[in-house]
This record gives sequence, C-alpha cells and structure tokens, in this order.
Amino acid sequence: MSFSSKVKEELTNKPPKSRHCKLAMLAGLSGEYKTADLSKECCRRAFIKGAFLAGGSVSDPDKSYHFEIAVPTKEHAEFLAGVIKKCGPNAKIGKRKDNYIVYIKDGEGIAELLNVMEAHVALMDIENVRILKDVRNSVNRQVNCDIANTRKTVGAAHRQIECIEYIKEHAAPDFLSPELAEMAAVRLENPEASLYELGQMLSIPLGKSGVNHRLAKLCEIAGDLRGRIEPSPETQGGMK
Ligand SMILES: [Zn+2]
Repeated sequence: MSFSSKVKEELTNKPPKSRHCKLAMLAGLSGEYKTADLSKECCRRAFIKGAFLAGGSVSDPDKSYHFEIAVPTKEHAEFLAGVIKKCGPNAKIGKRKDNYIVYIKDGEGIAELLNVMEAHVALMDIENVRILKDVRNSVNRQVNCDIANTRKTVGAAHRQIECIEYIKEHAAPDFLSPELAEMAAVRLENPEASLYELGQMLSIPLGKSGVNHRLAKLCEIAGDLRGRIEPSPETQGGMK
C-alpha cells in the first residue's frame, strides 16, 4: 500500500464527531469552500482532511518529500493554502495541466501538516524515516572525516620515516643533534603514533607543535642531504 493510501485510510477511519467539523470536512471534499464556516481550528483541520481525501497525495518519505492537493482553480488553491497557513505549515501553489496544486516539499512541513490532519500513524512513519536519514547522514559525515584524518596522519608519518631513513643511510651516526636523533628514533619505532603520543615518549616530553617542528626539521635536513648527494639536473649544470 502506498504512503498516500495509508494516510487516506487513517483519515477515513477517524471521521470528525461534531457537526461543524463534519460540515467543514464535507466542504473540503466537495470543493464547496466558499460557504464553509472555518472560524474554528477544529473545522480548518477537518476542511484540510476533506481536501486531501478528495485530491491529495503524499509520496513515500523513504523516497522523497512531496505532499500535494490538486484543486480546479487558482482561487481555490489560494483559499486552501491560506487555510493550511493558518494551521502552521507553509504551502506553495503551482499549476499542472488543468489543475492547480497546493504543495509542500520539505519533510518538516509535511510532518507538520500530517499532524494538523491528525494522521498520527503516518506522522510517526515519516518522523521515523526523518530520524533515520539524519542519523545516517551524520554517521556518514563522521566516517568520511575519520578516513580523511587517518589518511593525512598516515601520509605525513610515511614521509617523515622516509626522511629519517634517508638521513640514517647517508649521514654519519652523530650527524643529528641529540634532540633530533631521539625524535628520529621515536618516530621510526612508532610509525602509527600521533604527534601528541610521540611528544610523550621523549625523555623531556614535548607538545604537538614542538614535535611537529622537530619532524619538519628532520625532513628539511633530509632534503638538504638529497640536494647535495643527488643534485637535480639544473643545479648540476650550474655548479661546475
Ligand atoms: Zn469543528
């Protein structure tokens, strides 16, 4: 059963009790809106229910958010949108072939209107879908963010280790200052540690920015060494 039919079934199963509301619902159903007495809130709700039963549809919230009620004239559409507005939700008006449609395209507005129509089972359905979508979106955002951060950290650690190994291979063992040598050793032994964790492993603990500075220095040194040992073609020509 479509979501539309579910809403309609729910509305038909709970017809209004008082005479004024019954008349208002009938006015909505028949389209005889001009003589309807909609001075009471309960009657405005009943009128919207009638109009929806006559010409309304609402898409399955799992797929999209679209609620509409089709009426024959522009005046009728404006009247209906006005009644809906008085109850809270903001409906728009559009034209389709021979009809005018009063429609709502956001989940919050549709939920509000289902509440106005007292379609509480349908309202619960749409709220469940909306909550699920929210949760899914925030989980996805979180996962994407974690992956990006991990990639960044792993990439940086990989570059630092390359630099340190280059220095070890190409420079004398006491080439580095004691602080940098200790930093290099700690980084090599802990390729997956964060900057903060590395800082805590040093004999004199260091904060994130201090660790970052030392690692950058190591990469700078490796770069200098590389330049001296493997000159790029341009500098090779120019130095002679
Ligand atoms: Zn009433």
